[in-house]
Amino acid sequence: MSALPSHARVVIIGGGAVGASALYHLAKAGWTDCVLLEKNELTAGSTWHAAGNVPTFSSSWSIMNMQRYSASLYRELGVLVDYPMNYHVTGSIRLGHSKERLQEFKRVVGMGRYQGMDLDILSPDEMRGRYPFLETHDLTGALYDPYDGDIDPAQLTQALAKGARDMGAKIFRFCPATGARREGEEWVISTPEGEIRCEKVVNAAGYYAREVGKWFGREVPMMVMSHQYILFEEIPELAAWSKEAGHKLPLLRDVDSSYYLRQEKTGMNLGPYERNCKAHWVTPDDPMPDDFSFQLFPDDLDRLEWYLNDAVERVPILGTAGLSRMINGPIPYAPDGNPLIGPMPGVPNAFEACVFTFGICQAGGAGKVLAEWVTEGETEWDMWSCDPRRYTRFAADKDYCIAKGMEIYGHEYAMHFPKHAWPAGRDRKLSPIHDRIKALGGQFKPYNGWERAMWYAKPGDDLSEEATQTWNREGPWRPRIEAECRAVTETAGILDLPGFSRFRVKGEGATAWLSSLITGKVPKPGRIGLAYFADDKGRIVTEMSVMMLDEDFFFLITAATAQWHDFEWLAKHLPDNAAFTIEDVTDSFSCQILSGPNSRAILAEVSDADLSKGWLTHQPAQIAGRWCQLVRVSFAGELGWEIHTKIEDTAAIFDAVWAAGQKHGLKPFGMEALDSLRIEKGYRAWKGDLSTDYTILQGGLDRFVDWTKPDFKGKPALEQERQQGVTKRFVLLTVDAGECDAPYMSTLWHGGKVVGETTSGNWGYRVGKSIALGMLSADLTVPGTEIEVEIYGDRFKAIVQPDGPLFDPNNERLRA
Ligand SMILES: Cc1cc2nc3c(=O)[nH]c(=O)nc-3n(C[C@H](O)[C@H](O)[C@H](O)COP(=O)(O)OP(=O)(O)OC[C@H]3O[C@@H](n4cnc5c(N)ncnc54)[C@H](O)[C@@H]3O)c2cc1C
Repeated sequence: MSALPSHARVVIIGGGAVGASALYHLAKAGWTDCVLLEKNELTAGSTWHAAGNVPTFSSSWSIMNMQRYSASLYRELGVLVDYPMNYHVTGSIRLGHSKERLQEFKRVVGMGRYQGMDLDILSPDEMRGRYPFLETHDLTGALYDPYDGDIDPAQLTQALAKGARDMGAKIFRFCPATGARREGEEWVISTPEGEIRCEKVVNAAGYYAREVGKWFGREVPMMVMSHQYILFEEIPELAAWSKEAGHKLPLLRDVDSSYYLRQEKTGMNLGPYERNCKAHWVTPDDPMPDDFSFQLFPDDLDRLEWYLNDAVERVPILGTAGLSRMINGPIPYAPDGNPLIGPMPGVPNAFEACVFTFGICQAGGAGKVLAEWVTEGETEWDMWSCDPRRYTRFAADKDYCIAKGMEIYGHEYAMHFPKHAWPAGRDRKLSPIHDRIKALGGQFKPYNGWERAMWYAKPGDDLSEEATQTWNREGPWRPRIEAECRAVTETAGILDLPGFSRFRVKGEGATAWLSSLITGKVPKPGRIGLAYFADDKGRIVTEMSVMMLDEDFFFLITAATAQWHDFEWLAKHLPDNAAFTIEDVTDSFSCQILSGPNSRAILAEVSDADLSKGWLTHQPAQIAGRWCQLVRVSFAGELGWEIHTKIEDTAAIFDAVWAAGQKHGLKPFGMEALDSLRIEKGYRAWKGDLSTDYTILQGGLDRFVDWTKPDFKGKPALEQERQQGVTKRFVLLTVDAGECDAPYMSTLWHGGKVVGETTSGNWGYRVGKSIALGMLSADLTVPGTEIEVEIYGDRFKAIVQPDGPLFDPNNERLRA
């Protein structure tokens, strides 16, 4: 082995499938001066013992994209890098036991087809045609994925490593990274072979990522589960069938029973995600060893007994097979089960590509995404679902990670229904008036850990988990949400909104700097406005409200979940020697949304404010003897104010407003009602309607672009796009929907062709219609055009609406 170089452009720590793919993709991008450090042999972590399944299925658009890319890379990788590999594309059958499961499959089929994959739904007869040993009497249907298969994870890693080496990248095995420190603009990584300096560093240390993260002052939110699969001996009937058919059986996933069953040579491999699951290395009597290379946990067959029996009933020939071997290995979990790929929060020039629960099928796509982050600072696809900044500090708490990891693992194949709130790891951050909201019937969901009321239940409402197991609009919540919307429209509603992210920017030059970053005009002191931040390609990075207090002094207010993402965007663009400061003051403030025609009368009773001040103004005021900032905006599209308070004054101010509001018909309303109200106004939501998958102009945000400014970030790209004309464009659609409104990424059809996709959908109670926001081929955006929306497999008529709000198009109620 050659000596460790003293310098490299990038150092990757960890040589599993993901680290190797990251190195391969960096080299492919021309960054060949990169070094991978592996403390043992390549694949020594989770990779060597992985079952190697390569599904494309995901109910997440971005993760499906990543897995689709992996599968297509793996098909050609052996030839590309001249490294033969065992990769069997067998197809897979995913069994459905219920109507809801079939709806989920139909939605995924729609997304898959949009991404160019020919996924399909099978009837029980068709399943038996592909899988003759299957019991189908209790099944409603199945999803067939012709691209699914299995790969040898070690060969995959070696192939990626060879490809990277051939392009000039270097791999050092048996060379652990032992620490990292920052010197000037460089990282210095220490190893027993000496130190290596680099511009950028990647933590790809798999289940050791938390330990590696600590060197950078980063607490990686993760935990480690034990995951097992059972290998069976030859099944003569299967061997005979396979020989005659000339191929293997498709992989079977019984997702409602929670296992996969795969043909392994002439035997089988059963891999359950058991409810009675086990975390490892979480208690003092089970410490994480310094080195676990190529090791396994002891077998634990008892945990899998129910799944084994279930699989034997499903595929009876399995009952004739002898058990040959068990594999029980460590598998890391982030609190939502998705990996961490992207910038390491708060740490310059450091990145994460770790905590993969499905790192074999995702390695290919993850390497591409990671390499884009490193070389370009942005990614082709919006990858928020895997962005490390989606978690903030609270999520690093070990107990939280354990509770969420156990929950996700035990429900690995569960359906994620829109009205269901997963119970583990809750109540991490509570509003100062949480108890009052709860007493009023609040049904909560967390946003960046903050519990917010989604809707308010009344005594007798069915609040069981079972009631939430539906994709339908109808449910115990529906009449309550409708009543909440009515209160906001007819009298007044109040919504407790803890955790609104908030940054204070102050000092000379701050206004000019902001203007250089946003596409539009900076509001004048005393005013508030929406600001859009574009990247150099003109794509939508984020949206913030700018509350201008004075020249060079303002608050930027943004989504709770955007807290670290948006702060980093600002910090990254801070000029050297800036005379102004940016401070994250999220935890010091809280907010109430008071909205509805009676809100002025309510505030008049409790505040000293000048309530004649118009829309988009703000002013300091006193309520109950406490300071607050009254901001004349309403995401609900009615007359209204946001009441921003110091966190410690929230309760007193809420109590005063609440008491005064009673005779004015004030009711609490939740996030569900707010979402319904905002969609009627065509207001976009972050990371649905607003993402880097779209440019500012595609997003229909032209009115927030000030072309007269000499320059702003993204301007050249947007100017070019304006000259060439946008190809797809934001639209508001009314939909003749059935029982369900259009979820994110529902396909839009016209004349039998795919013409766009939805970015959000909901029922609008004020207009009595199902509404979808989406992106449509620009030639079809003429108001009145009839198209179709595919919702859970069925197509529904939709009409393109004029550009502007559907409800109160002239904003008269807002300005009242
Ligand atoms: C039983 C089982 C079955 C599975 N089946 C599948 C499957 O069918 N499909 C699928 O997609 N996924 C599967 N997985 C998950 C899959 O194994 C992992 O997601 C994947 O291997 C993660 O790859 P990685 O490169 O991120 O991490 P790892 O493979 O764990 O690699 C991390 C590497 O970093 C090295 N390292 C750690 N610390 C240092 C340091 N300080 N310096 C240098 N090197 C360091 C380690 O030695 C290790 O080699 C399975 C997991 C288990 C346990």
